[in-house]
Amino acid sequence: MTTPLVCRNFINGEWVKATTGDVLESRNPSDRREVVATFPHSGNIDVDNAVSSARQAYHSWRLIPAPARAEYIFKVGELLSQQKETIALLMSREMGKCLPEARGDVQEGIDWAFYSAGEGRRLFGQTTPSEMPNKFAMTMRMPVGVCALITPWNFPVAIPCWKAMPALICGNTVILKPAEDTPACATKLVEIFQAAGLPPGVINLVHGVGEEVGKALVEHPDINLVSFTGSSETGSQVGEICGRTHKRVCLEMGGKNAQVVMEDADLDLALEGAVWGAFGTTGQRCTATSRLILHRDIKDKFTTMLQERTSQLRLGAGYEPQTEIGPIINQKQLQRVKTYLDIARSEGAKVLIGGEVATAGELQHGYFFQPTILDEVNPQMRVAKEEIFGPVVSLIEVDNFASAIAVLNSTNYGLSSSIYTQDVNRAFAAMRDIEAGITYINGPTIGAEVHLPFGGVKSTGNGHREAGTAVLDVFTEWKTVYVDFSSSLQRAQIDNRTS
Ligand code: ADP
Repeated sequence: MTTPLVCRNFINGEWVKATTGDVLESRNPSDRREVVATFPHSGNIDVDNAVSSARQAYHSWRLIPAPARAEYIFKVGELLSQQKETIALLMSREMGKCLPEARGDVQEGIDWAFYSAGEGRRLFGQTTPSEMPNKFAMTMRMPVGVCALITPWNFPVAIPCWKAMPALICGNTVILKPAEDTPACATKLVEIFQAAGLPPGVINLVHGVGEEVGKALVEHPDINLVSFTGSSETGSQVGEICGRTHKRVCLEMGGKNAQVVMEDADLDLALEGAVWGAFGTTGQRCTATSRLILHRDIKDKFTTMLQERTSQLRLGAGYEPQTEIGPIINQKQLQRVKTYLDIARSEGAKVLIGGEVATAGELQHGYFFQPTILDEVNPQMRVAKEEIFGPVVSLIEVDNFASAIAVLNSTNYGLSSSIYTQDVNRAFAAMRDIEAGITYINGPTIGAEVHLPFGGVKSTGNGHREAGTAVLDVFTEWKTVYVDFSSSLQRAQIDNRTS
């Protein structure tokens, strides 16, 4: 065990304690005896301080040319690359994910840095002809202002990077409110932004409890934009407050992602996709596969293959080299998974494998749950409709392609989706008919790349996309500019045509 890291808030370029003087603890979910970090239990005054620091910095930051702003982010990318291994190890201890996945999480931050920093030299607007003579028309992107970035624990470096980097390049200043479970990862990341030389107040970090500091940020009158990733329950509250207070809000919430396996699929390939999609990151990705929709002709064979492969998965601490499935993040989430297992049983689903908390040997010290397959699930059951966020996958049998798509679409969510088939006609029909923000053909539901839009339809989001160039529409406002060089009053919206 190592000495706990002492985390602080980062406000106006200084590392400071909470004005409340209180601290909270972040523990290792693989071994809860270990305190990974202590962090400030901030209150409203800390939020006020962070917001006024960001507001102050905004006045000068927005005037720095975007290519120069992007230079800082290139530097962040370089420093993150240098510290990738150290941060990945910390992440594995603090959040639990397996080391290769933790490295991937940091790598996504690095990829974001280099991809988004390139945008500093683009941020394209449009020019278009005016309907009048001697008049010029164009659009340009304006920053939105001070942005609150509220992030979850499952991608403790990647998601803050996804939000902070484009926000900063677009000329906004930010306040990061990371999840209570991963304060150390957020602190290390913000240390890197500081080391890259960002002016004071451009990035601020406020730790604390979501219902307290998260809510205070969302309600704060001097915040212009809230970018939130987390649960649907919290996202709905955030959206309501932003609606009432006229803030721009980008919500990334739950998913109930499905992988379809048709009778003509390459079953070995579909199996690898299903295992990775369902149990990668212990099922704690918003894009995790939580439903497998199986054509009846291959259902029995595929189920046997899946059961066999799942039974071989090794549970353990993410930083142990042999581990394939790490812990669940905390007691509350573990309880949630257990409750869904009770619901599944009471609704008539059959537990094929797993279904229990794992407590053998060293696992007793952490929050481990056996990888679980539920069979005989029908689309009306709660386990087929609600997000579980753990290593649990439900099998649903279908008779044909049309019912596979109908079942896939039969939830309120629409984030990621996948279909395994060798039939190009079905693949294209699926691309057209699946109601989701992301569709993979012959690939698992997880695996987003930074330069493509990320987000979902229906209750998953509120119509925005992160990543790719789409994220620029979150972090900028369009300004339309007309320049009249005719030296005369030219009246638009008047019928100027003479017959
Ligand atoms: P989860 O249940 O997966 O932890 P949450 O939606 O509770 O998801 O948390 C996601 C982020 O939202 C975290 O940073 C958390 O602190 C924050 N949060 C929680 N409650 C609120 C709230 N009422 N207002 C704003 N942010 C919140």
